[in-house]
Amino acid sequence: MLTSATPATLSAAMTGRVVAPGDPDWDAARQAFNVLVDQRPTAIAFPTDERDVATAVHWARERGLRVAPQATAHNAGPLGALDDTIIVHVSGLQDVTIDAAAQRVRVGAGVKWERITPQLSELGLAGLHGSSPDVGIAGYSLGGGMGWLARKHGLQTNSVTAIELVTAEGDLVRADANHEPDLFWALRGGGGNFGVVTAIEFAVYPMAELYAGAMFFPFARASEVLHAWRELLPTLPDELMTWACLFQFPDIPDVPAVVRGGAYTVVMAAHIGDEADGRELLRPVRELGPEMDTFAMVPPIALGDLAMDPPDPLPFVSAHHLLDDVPAAGIDELVAAAGPGSGSPLTMVQLRHMGGALARTAPGAGARATLPGSVSLFSLGVVVDEPSTRAAEASLAAVQDGLRPYRVGDYPNFVEEPADASGFFDAATWARLRDVKALYDHRDLFKGNHHVPPAA
Ligand SMILES: Cc1cc2nc3c(=O)[nH]c(=O)nc-3n(C[C@H](O)[C@H](O)[C@H](O)COP(=O)(O)OP(=O)(O)OC[C@H]3O[C@@H](n4cnc5c(N)ncnc54)[C@H](O)[C@@H]3O)c2cc1C
Repeated sequence: MLTSATPATLSAAMTGRVVAPGDPDWDAARQAFNVLVDQRPTAIAFPTDERDVATAVHWARERGLRVAPQATAHNAGPLGALDDTIIVHVSGLQDVTIDAAAQRVRVGAGVKWERITPQLSELGLAGLHGSSPDVGIAGYSLGGGMGWLARKHGLQTNSVTAIELVTAEGDLVRADANHEPDLFWALRGGGGNFGVVTAIEFAVYPMAELYAGAMFFPFARASEVLHAWRELLPTLPDELMTWACLFQFPDIPDVPAVVRGGAYTVVMAAHIGDEADGRELLRPVRELGPEMDTFAMVPPIALGDLAMDPPDPLPFVSAHHLLDDVPAAGIDELVAAAGPGSGSPLTMVQLRHMGGALARTAPGAGARATLPGSVSLFSLGVVVDEPSTRAAEASLAAVQDGLRPYRVGDYPNFVEEPADASGFFDAATWARLRDVKALYDHRDLFKGNHHVPPAA
């Protein structure tokens, strides 16, 4: 039962359902992936097609409400307060078309990577998904999208070939290189600030197998492993992307049984190439003698499990920076803050090697053409109560402080709290994003993640 007459009028106008405060499934509908995020919008609309999306957008605009597009709530934190806002939750838009010959995919905006990665893999194709295939393709792509193949193929957003969306006027628009080119540019990096995306098309890449896996070392060996990993980076081709992580896995069912409750220093990699070359490139790390080594030739679907991301919602705090070349002293700072003997409770401290195609602007790229820096730092602590939250936050701050001298920016997809989005872009890109926002949404109807205000 809708308790508010206002959302009931939307419910009557839509095919899909509308959930409002007081409804039995209100708490389930508003739950975010990070269960600490307490989303309290005016209502949540679940459209079944683009007409429903347009109805919800019209309805909100006419009542002076804002619209926050959402697909999975994997990054709900940056939205902040949702007063006078409806969430348009696109999880019902689930169409999938894979054109293997053209190496093109079209998906509804509610589709997660996990829906298409098995089929792509069977076809000998790979998309540019990130560490978790549980993430929504649209939200991931609109923010950038840095996955295992990023050093070779760049950010997912620049493999996007067309986006369909409902604009602030309630029109269904197709944006691509030839139609609404400014909007197409802004969407690819500017996030959900320009409309509710209903469908997205993108290129995928031929890939039968690749050499990928993880080497697990004892947590106690963090310093020598991370130093060896750092020294390896300048020697690596774009075909190889490697991440180094400190893990202190909680003893919960979400964690693979073989590592559950354990603490490790882990070097992971994906190499677009054969085993012999991959082994040779990673030799300096392997010579340290991992206690477990899962590297093998695998189909692309294996990339979805490599990072061991949690599949289910959980409570956590996180922090992130993009770093320029990290000197040996930076590794020492990291180990002092989160390594053995530090007392850090952090579940994960992750370093991703960047560069390669992430540093090159491809022809026709969108607003998020590149990412600065050569290493991405992302740290996360699973928390259970107030004291564990305080301890995790203190440890996050110690890691961030230790590595701040090397900071060159932040990557919006990895920033999980409200932030001034101007800091994510250079001045010219930011000004152009605001101009496009003014052109398509001068009333600032759409509350995107992260917020781009219209130019005055
Ligand atoms: C476990 C985990 C692993 C991750 N791994 C990676 C990774 O490897 N690489 C990486 O780059 N990122 C990664 N991310 C970050 C992820 O890309 C962002 O959280 C992204 O915003 C998630 O998109 P979503 O649609 O799933 O989430 P949502 O919270 O539903 O959406 C996030 C934002 O995207 C926009 N959006 C979503 N759908 C629409 C739509 N239909 N129309 C308009 N705007 C829309 C909105 O602004 C929305 O606020 C990861 C996140 C998690 C939780």
